[in-house]
Amino acid sequence: MITENLEWVKSRLTEAAEKAGRSPESILLIAVSKTVPVEKIIEAREADAEIFGENRVQEALEKMDRLGQRVSHWHFIGHLQKNKVKQVVGRFDLIHSVDNVELAQIINDQSLKRSLTTSVLIQVNVSGEASKSGVAPDALEGTLQALSKMLAVRVEGLMTIPPYDPDPEKSRKVFSRLRELRDQMAGLGIEGIDLKELSMGMSNDFTVAIEEGATLVRVGSAIFGDRPAG
Ligand SMILES: *Cc1c(COP(=O)(O)O)cnc(C)c1O
Repeated sequence: MITENLEWVKSRLTEAAEKAGRSPESILLIAVSKTVPVEKIIEAREADAEIFGENRVQEALEKMDRLGQRVSHWHFIGHLQKNKVKQVVGRFDLIHSVDNVELAQIINDQSLKRSLTTSVLIQVNVSGEASKSGVAPDALEGTLQALSKMLAVRVEGLMTIPPYDPDPEKSRKVFSRLRELRDQMAGLGIEGIDLKELSMGMSNDFTVAIEEGATLVRVGSAIFGDRPAG
């Protein structure tokens, strides 16, 4: 089932890229494996999924330990608490969800201590939903200015999560707004800030996100099936 699902997701990804006049290779698929047992991750890995996304630190580290060399690329996509930074630095290729300067500062301190550079995206709360984390669009420039001074944190782009809506077209304006914000911020030419990546799109709206410029799509249930509720 996972193999078929992955094939389906990849062909939709290719279709959406071609429709948008983009190269499918310019889009990375993150297989979101939160709540998914390691056996299924192995199955997805054998079906050629390369990057796995997790949103809980403890769960992710346990899976990494159990899977060892079988999986070499992990992304952290969930809300990151400051007291968990120590455990996260050095274990993930990319943290999608940096949403405040203080958190970035702690990531920077930990990275310096271990002589590492940590790649991050800034999560932006485009829609202004009170329940969502993320930097407000108005605060993005100041956040990027602050992070540009942190030598062990490398900002590679922006991430957003639109309000849930069963109609993927409803997410389009959130995605296009994130792209506009990126273009605007990139135009400022802030030293050391590279905004090439746009992490946007999940199972029900990744094709729309690709049409709007996503370079990283985070797809869980369309690959692994529905997660248990709650
Ligand atoms: C769970 C999750 C996803 C994947 O959601 P699906 O709808 O299962 O594809 C993507 N991004 C984040 C941040 C998530 O927490």
